[in-house]
Amino acid sequence: MKVVARSTTASSKIQSSVAKASRRGGASRPKTHAPRKRFGQNFLVDQSVISAIARAINPHKDDNIVEIGPGQGALTDALFESGCTIKAIEIDRDLQSQLRVMFFNRDFTLFNYDALKFNFNELSNGAHDLRIVGNLPYNISTPLIFKLLTHLPVISDMHFMLQKEVVDRLAALPGNKHWGRLSVMTQVDCDVEHLFDVPPEAFYPQPKVQSAIVRLTPKMTAHRTECSREELGKLVQLAFSQRRKTLRNNLRGVIDDAVMQRLGIDPACRAETLTLDQLMDLSLELPQAAI
Ligand code: SAM
Repeated sequence: MKVVARSTTASSKIQSSVAKASRRGGASRPKTHAPRKRFGQNFLVDQSVISAIARAINPHKDDNIVEIGPGQGALTDALFESGCTIKAIEIDRDLQSQLRVMFFNRDFTLFNYDALKFNFNELSNGAHDLRIVGNLPYNISTPLIFKLLTHLPVISDMHFMLQKEVVDRLAALPGNKHWGRLSVMTQVDCDVEHLFDVPPEAFYPQPKVQSAIVRLTPKMTAHRTECSREELGKLVQLAFSQRRKTLRNNLRGVIDDAVMQRLGIDPACRAETLTLDQLMDLSLELPQAAI
């Protein structure tokens, strides 16, 4: 499994250029649409950050890009420089005409839809062809990632701007306080790379928290197919239900101490110390009634 955290040379270079440009006040002026809090509208206005994200995505002419929440088209515009095709899903009806005018001469399809209800399979022309991108509204980011994890056969990769705390959870390793349901269910089927952080000054209006860019790449060879994702999801939900409690307490009445010991797992440990394979081993022991 490849989990690249923030320490790569390339990502630190991007990080420092992003930080410098933000200090210089590199942000362009916000456009006229009044941002709506209920849609999590924090628009990217810092051109150096927008360019850094587009470079990280590295779009090509033949790419089938799906952008979730194009907003006022800041990232869309940067991606179009490659001549790619973009299908965008935007919930805010009031942004539609602005987007259609901006990209009238591009290969642009806009869906006025809720991404949480959207059938991503419909946009695909074959296996692993969708490149999904988005500066995601913070309130839908976790459920949307869980939804996209069920569409991996049509996805090539995903690049998201998320709250930094969510990226920490996606990229966490066993033993880390952020290791939990989101890390496990993502890393079982995707490589996770924390690319770089983005400060609040890069947005209008500015969010109260730090953000970060993450890349999720579906693994081409499925890991341990004997273990269903449904069973793993249930096990993880139970094992992490009370993080401070022992595994024995969280799995009481579902998996016995003797079974854990047979698997070489200490029932007195906490779930956050368990590796992905140990969690998968445990999930295979779940009684049918618990699933
Ligand atoms: N991509 C733009 C940018 O970077 O400036 C806008 C990003 S803004 C953080 C999030 C965008 O997602 C907004 O345009 C918002 O209207 C849209 N959005 C919010 N909830 C959505 C949903 N459920 N489905 C699709 N779009 C949504």
